[in-house]
Amino acid sequence: MISFDSVKNADLHCHSNVSDGLLTPAAVVERALDNGVDLLALTDHDEVAGLAEARVTAEARGLTLVNGVEISIEWASKTAGVTANIPIHVVGLGVDARCPALTQGLETIRNGRYQRAERMAAALDKIGLRGCLEGALRYSSNPTLVSRAHFARFLVESGVAADTKAVFDHYLVPGKPGYVEHRWATLDDALGWIRAAGGVAVVAHPGRYKMSKRALRRFMGEFKDGGGVALEVVCGSHTTEHVKQFARYAREFGLAGSRGSDYHGPGESYVDIGCLSKEWPEGVTPVWAQLL
Ligand code: AMP
Ligand code: MN
Ligand code: MN
Ligand code: MN
Repeated sequence: MISFDSVKNADLHCHSNVSDGLLTPAAVVERALDNGVDLLALTDHDEVAGLAEARVTAEARGLTLVNGVEISIEWASKTAGVTANIPIHVVGLGVDARCPALTQGLETIRNGRYQRAERMAAALDKIGLRGCLEGALRYSSNPTLVSRAHFARFLVESGVAADTKAVFDHYLVPGKPGYVEHRWATLDDALGWIRAAGGVAVVAHPGRYKMSKRALRRFMGEFKDGGGVALEVVCGSHTTEHVKQFARYAREFGLAGSRGSDYHGPGESYVDIGCLSKEWPEGVTPVWAQLL
């Protein structure tokens, strides 16, 4: 296991084809090694089943692997003023993948995912896009982990848009015909499952949420009060401005900082695994201090 002082290239957020990534868990680990990652967390959406395969490869190749998961929640503030349910992702790092509270909690989310996919397909059918559930399932290794990303890949194949980003923009985001509201887990659920599994909770890609600064700050406060530990400061979808903004939030809310590419596969991601900017903000404690 690598020591804290030796870590030069941590990547604590990425996906395999167990969820909506394109590579197998073993191939994710191989690619991370090729790209110089020395501390890796595989963080599939709502599932820990890829970790065993990733661990076999990581151990064979001498890479330190941290167990991870990215949990889909929706958040509505407990205090007045923020009413909407906002989808947010909470990464759990250093979790015991066999913890029943975690595995059973994730199972409830996965069951909801399949039902949402049926409703998405019905909505897309209404605008003349047929067979989207079956199509999306062809891209997914597990029907209960079917994601908007799998719908997007099928819709690219169908020729409705040139790439997955264009499919999201025209069909799969709020206000577009294939988007359906969904009840995910709550913030308290995710924090409780991660705590029960002995892990630390991290706010994923905070720069991507469509919410006001006021709401985001309220979220950070509730996250910290509920036992949350870190937020992603350096991540694939963050600009230099985001890095500065979330470094300020980390210092202000007493949260550590995490670093992760959110890599999903060749041609589908903001940045390749292990290829994040080397900058690290002053005064922000790396979350891996608590993982090693
Ligand atoms: P879901 O969890 O099924 O709602 O799908 C969310 C996933 O879709 C994210 O984890 C990303 O992999 C992908 N995604 C979300 N928004 C976009 C976007 N605008 N362009 C491309 N992929 C996206
Ligand atoms: Mn994804
Ligand atoms: Mn995410
Ligand atoms: Mn992710």
